[in-house]
Amino acid sequence: MEKKEFWFVVGSQFLYGPEVLETVENRAKEMALGLSKVLPYKLVYKVTAKTNKEIMDVVKEANYDDSCLGIVTWCHTFSPSKMWINGLEALQKPYCHLATQYNMEIPNEEIDMDFMNLNQSAHGDREHGFIASRLRMQRKVIAGYWKDEEVHSRLSSWMRTAYGVAFSKNLKVMRFGDNMREVAVTEGDKVETQIKLGWQVNTWPVGKLVEVMDSVTEKEIDEMMDIYRSSYDFATDDMDSVRYQAKEEIAIKKMMDAEGCSAFSNTFQDLYGMEQLPGLASQHLMALGYGYGGEGDWKVSAMMTIMKKMGKDENGESAFMEDYTYNLAPGAKYSLGAHMLEVCPTIASSRPRIEVHPLGIGDRKDPARLVFEGKEGDAIVVSLVDMGGRLRLICQDVKCVKPILPMPNLPVARVMWQAYPDLETGIECWITAGGAHHTVLSYDVSAEQMKDFANMMAIEFVHISKDTTVESLEKELFLNDIAWKLR
Ligand code: MN
Repeated sequence: MEKKEFWFVVGSQFLYGPEVLETVENRAKEMALGLSKVLPYKLVYKVTAKTNKEIMDVVKEANYDDSCLGIVTWCHTFSPSKMWINGLEALQKPYCHLATQYNMEIPNEEIDMDFMNLNQSAHGDREHGFIASRLRMQRKVIAGYWKDEEVHSRLSSWMRTAYGVAFSKNLKVMRFGDNMREVAVTEGDKVETQIKLGWQVNTWPVGKLVEVMDSVTEKEIDEMMDIYRSSYDFATDDMDSVRYQAKEEIAIKKMMDAEGCSAFSNTFQDLYGMEQLPGLASQHLMALGYGYGGEGDWKVSAMMTIMKKMGKDENGESAFMEDYTYNLAPGAKYSLGAHMLEVCPTIASSRPRIEVHPLGIGDRKDPARLVFEGKEGDAIVVSLVDMGGRLRLICQDVKCVKPILPMPNLPVARVMWQAYPDLETGIECWITAGGAHHTVLSYDVSAEQMKDFANMMAIEFVHISKDTTVESLEKELFLNDIAWKLR
């Protein structure tokens, strides 16, 4: 996906004569150019569609052109929507209906029936909306003046999500070893996941990784050490441990790049021939944008790299996270998230430190890892679970805080947050929905983006927000269960 763009398709008809159509086209071009300047991706004007064939032609082109990440439609005039049926039925790309208007205000003196016929978005967009509803199409509707910042912001988020969808459909995940023995929630139907989300999830032997590690040169390791020095503080004298992590990182990256993989998983139960569980190695790979999941959790690994792509500059502040322990004191109720090593340093509040400590799990040498506190701010935690017959994407709003304790003896990166609507209700909702202990914690991807992602992929979405109650959620999950059985 070298070139990434969205296409602007404007609905109209022949009724108004060539002059009106020319005005519509000129204005649509102006709007596409103007919007392209403030959106993360180019919006390219394609056609003012007046016939079934014109719509079908642009949809066919959109489906087969890899540079087209989605289409944005709008009606300046009225566009009878039966001409859209065949094209919309064939559309395989994300679709946004921008319900906007060229002019901001109704001009008091100028308005007459000619003006009304040219400027009738309120009329045309309703006809256009009906047909997508009639077709039961998943699409995004964004209403507002096209120069408003709020419209820009929502359209930008939708575009980033559509890019995440395109990325997902080409995603390859490299697994080293299977899932951790006996764990349920990290399992999943890889065939179903490929059908729904496009992921190619396959396994490579740990022995092969060890072979590649053995071929890494001292010079390559020196170069990686320079990168570590420029990004992190060294709080250890054990350079051998750090150099070993560099060797692991180089080898894992070589194997992923050779296969075109953007995410990987491993497990401490399958480190045959490796001296350390990758810690710093996995963390720096995550900072580069690769997805990671511990204990063989390929679902969280894939979601992590996709959410990074959906964030700022296609490598945002999304991290592999695990719910660990609670502070349940009145007035100070928090979740503490961490992992045994692997938290992405892009969410650090200050420069991370490289430390070396023993690891009780995995029966290997003391691994080097990055230690830091996560930053403050509004965030979401996201979990994809396999319900048997369907995938469920669960998203919870959280507020990350500066950890209330220094925890000097905790040798891993940590994040502390308040869950919405409150800690206890939030826990009850999360557990009721079947959310995993592994999540993607994100500061720059919104719950609305995750909902849009689920809609574009036609999977179930559950959002736990400030307004959620256990009772409303139980009802929603019960109804979802019936609805998804009927689909
Ligand atoms: Mn874990």
